[in-house]
Amino acid sequence: MTRIIVVDGSSVTRAILARILQDEVSNAEVYPCATGEEALALLRQSKFDLISTALMLPDMDGLELSRHVRASKGHSYIPVIVVSGDADSRLLREGFEAGVTDYFDKSQGYKAFGGFIRSFIQRHSGLVGRILFVEDSATAAAVTQKILEKHGLKVTRLANAEDAVVLMQPHERGSGTALDEYDMVITDFYLEGDMTGGDLLHAIRAKLHLSQQEMPVLVLTSTEDQSTQVEVFHAGANDFVSKPIVEEVLIARVRALLLIKHQYDALKEQTEAMRWIAVTDSLTGVRSKRYLVDNGEEYIRNSANQPVWGVLIDIDHFKQINDTLGHITGDHVLAEMGEQLNKSFKDSMVVRFGGEEFCILVPNMQAEQMLERAEKLRREVAQLRPANVNITVSIGLACSCDHPDEPLTRFLALADKALYRAKESGRNRVYLYAKEGPIPSPWNESETEVPNPLSNYNH
Ligand code: GH3
Ligand code: MG
Ligand code: MG
Ligand code: MG
Repeated sequence: MTRIIVVDGSSVTRAILARILQDEVSNAEVYPCATGEEALALLRQSKFDLISTALMLPDMDGLELSRHVRASKGHSYIPVIVVSGDADSRLLREGFEAGVTDYFDKSQGYKAFGGFIRSFIQRHSGLVGRILFVEDSATAAAVTQKILEKHGLKVTRLANAEDAVVLMQPHERGSGTALDEYDMVITDFYLEGDMTGGDLLHAIRAKLHLSQQEMPVLVLTSTEDQSTQVEVFHAGANDFVSKPIVEEVLIARVRALLLIKHQYDALKEQTEAMRWIAVTDSLTGVRSKRYLVDNGEEYIRNSANQPVWGVLIDIDHFKQINDTLGHITGDHVLAEMGEQLNKSFKDSMVVRFGGEEFCILVPNMQAEQMLERAEKLRREVAQLRPANVNITVSIGLACSCDHPDEPLTRFLALADKALYRAKESGRNRVYLYAKEGPIPSPWNESETEVPNPLSNYNH
């Protein structure tokens, strides 16, 4: 809930502004006041989040109201926004000194006012972030921690840099790292133990290799200590705050550094997503051919994967599905096929090889197992009825154990020859390109009959 005081001498304007704020700002609770005194009386009674005031009020002006607010006990930091005619020269001259946070030019119209306040609140809303705070003095730490927590931050406090380095070390097991747990570090420069804040910085940048964007570091120094300030910048600090800590200054710096961090995180996520898009076939959700070209060779060479199988899968009479049921249905069939293959071959590299052909590189599998698995897949597909269409596949296999030194393209060409034989000998079956040439899977019985694709008309 955002509690907003709106001060304006005109009852009509008050009503309009209140209405706009209620509509445009989610969770706004608006308190209209006719005079400055009325607003100050409200502020004495309870807590508010924002004040919007006209420049001219019946009993004082907006700047005077702002000065009173700044001098008040409970609301000295509350944002004060002045709504005025365009570029009022007095506001520009005296607004800063009077503690005005921002002003809105009402010639932009009241509709824009709602958007202005909404974005203002977004920019000044509570902070989100997890902070690793290193401070040896328990009393100093308690005060600072309280400030940080008051602004919505999560704080882990440590008394020395040695412990901080241990905590930020990549964990031995699991994928958890300091980056998953903390958004930034705040450290005192002088610390108990052998390491200073400067040493901690050095460890973060040079040993843990965390950049200024990945792990912003704010150093607390004493006011007069300029050589230390220079030193911490050299060591890779993003910024410093001098002691004694001024709440507004500390929070402003933390806000700026968290913004850097959050932008970095967003960029990283976006890059991940882009990378994923580039290696994924958009229709079927399996890997793209590009991915196979970039990674397949290494995959079949990798000793940890031996023996590796190349599996080529081609949908039987797919053209007729397009011709009789339409290209869109054909697409649905391919999409469901991709989904099924991803599910059945989680531990393998599943690739869209061409239009209605898929290629799977299957690691670590003996021949018997592989033939069984291929047969299982053949039966699964015959049961699948993607987009309510009966389909079958022909499958060609080749094993690195039979063809150990073939480069990827030749290796897959052998699997393709086996596939061709599967087509030739009636489709809906599995062939293996053994050392001596293509041989049928022992499971290929006469029962593997290809259904008439025109039966798809009657589904
Ligand atoms: P076979 O049993 O010999 O494999 O017969 P087929 O009809 O499946 O083989 P063919 O290679 O003649 O036809 C493949 C068809 O796949 C032709 C093409 O229009 C279709 N196709 C390729 N890519 C797509 C796609 O992305 N969407 C759809 N709907 N059809 C596609
Ligand atoms: Mg074909
Ligand atoms: Mg086909
Ligand atoms: Mg084909």
